[in-house]
Amino acid sequence: MNPYKLFLADPQATEAFGQQLAHCCSSGLVVFLRGHLGAGKTTLVRGFLRAMGHQGAVKSPTYTLIEPYTTPGGVVNHLDLYRLGDPDELEWMGMRDLLDGKQTCLIEWPEQGEGWLPPADVTIVLRSRQDGRQLEAVSASVRGEQLLHCLPPVPALQGGKMLEHNR
Ligand code: ADP
Ligand code: MG
Repeated sequence: MNPYKLFLADPQATEAFGQQLAHCCSSGLVVFLRGHLGAGKTTLVRGFLRAMGHQGAVKSPTYTLIEPYTTPGGVVNHLDLYRLGDPDELEWMGMRDLLDGKQTCLIEWPEQGEGWLPPADVTIVLRSRQDGRQLEAVSASVRGEQLLHCLPPVPALQGGKMLEHNR
């Protein structure tokens, strides 16, 4: 399947995409969020959690590395592995328990856990542009592909504000 591509003009668009992702995401999926510091990964997770019914703050778990959220829509684990020293640390952090097929895991900086982490169902890459962010999502499992198929075309998402779309 071709990558799902979308231009996100502002932080609200990034949040809106996160919400759409939540609506399409079956529980237990592993989603990798790639992109440089400030690319919008946490903003996307914020939208995702809002759509799951979480009403409190969403901050990147920069030091705790894992932040679990028990939402009305199920358990969502937000990981930021930027400061992970070694992929094997994920083992004693109890990461295996989170990969039980029921809890959803949204993982920033998955490259830091390479070698230990399982493959993602969906990988999302965010790239900065002068006028916003370019998003690209690819699936690597049947459930991941179902998720990408569920995402709406651009005009439905944001009134035509997103400039580029290519499935
Ligand atoms: P990351 O988690 O990738 O480090 P953040 O989600 O913390 O990045 O976002 C960094 C900054 O980028 C925030 O100020 C956020 O509002 C902004 N941002 C997010 N999405 C966009 C966008 N589509 N266009 C412009 N700025 C954005
Ligand atoms: Mg972040």
